[in-house]
Amino acid sequence: MATALPQPKAGILDIDPYVPGESKLPAGLKPIKLSSNETPLGPSPKALDAVREAIGELERYPDGSASALRAAIAARYGLNPSRIVCGAGSDELLTMLAHAYLGPGDEAIFTEHGFLLYRIIVLANGATPVVAPETNYQTDTAEILKRVTPRTKMVFLANPNNPTGTYISFDEVRSLRAQLPSNVLLVLDAAYAEYVRRNDYEAGIELVATTPNTVMTRTFSKIHGLAGLRLGWAYCPEEVADVLNRSRGPFNISVPAMAAGAASIADKTHEEASALHNERWLPWLSGELEKLGLTVTPSVANFILVHFAKDGGKTANAADAFLKERAIIVRKVGAYGLPDCLRITVGTEADNRAVVDALSAFLGGRGA
Ligand code: PMP
Repeated sequence: MATALPQPKAGILDIDPYVPGESKLPAGLKPIKLSSNETPLGPSPKALDAVREAIGELERYPDGSASALRAAIAARYGLNPSRIVCGAGSDELLTMLAHAYLGPGDEAIFTEHGFLLYRIIVLANGATPVVAPETNYQTDTAEILKRVTPRTKMVFLANPNNPTGTYISFDEVRSLRAQLPSNVLLVLDAAYAEYVRRNDYEAGIELVATTPNTVMTRTFSKIHGLAGLRLGWAYCPEEVADVLNRSRGPFNISVPAMAAGAASIADKTHEEASALHNERWLPWLSGELEKLGLTVTPSVANFILVHFAKDGGKTANAADAFLKERAIIVRKVGAYGLPDCLRITVGTEADNRAVVDALSAFLGGRGA
């Protein structure tokens, strides 16, 4: 007798599982890890102290409303705490938003080389992913608007985008919002906002404050150096915050994550030091690789997209293998539709010099 087995919802088995940046090398080699856009400066010392203190309370459930953390975030940015929702990484918030607003028959738009999670969470809810081409590896809002149909429910926009490192200006985002139908939820994923040094950039706070259908997500994983604790936050219209608070796990933020996040968001000095490190080394890394003859997409984030030859011996795959032999791990981005590129995170000075030296050897054929 045939026995029927449990079946997942339609869409789930269409998902290619997310492959994180690599972190392991053959035994004995200490890796230089430039594959996951983590900060080379680590977390704020104040966040570490807060975690040490929080360890004394692990038998207790966390405050399910994360009120101290939300108050700290609100104080830092001058926000209304009741419109902030925290998640176990911004991944969880993006996932909760898709879960709450998408179902079979719905469409969600994201860009050609947009963050991979968007496709996963759209498919996981039985909805249809709609891909808008980019222009020069940059979001093209006209292409997004062309793809809006009566079935469109959400638009996901990483600004700056991962893995391209490009951004669009506040004027462009505002104009996109104004032209999207009012029932379409625009999600501004601003995971790298703190790194951006451009006068025409705005992470999303202003649009969330002034429109009823825009959400901004932020993370503690990047400039705050707390990726391992899993913490992010969303700034939402009241109605969206209410939806997320109804549907989220009641204790989705752990005690150490909450303590670290509140301490970190208040430590502007550490954040500024990380931003300054990036401001110094992002142009250096891009410039040195360009001097080697590589094309680097201009980035405003803490990583760069580097383009290699399509064929011959100097491809992205060959470069990746060459770097790996030298214990340098970067990110292959074939899954993002960029098989001829590698994404390299800005690291410590020594890491940055090591990757430039290694790529110089790779391209010059030295040390191969
Ligand atoms: N959005 C973008 C654009 C990202 O690059 C990342 C991290 N890779 C995330 C969201 C998710 O980060 P986290 O879940 O650690 O907050």
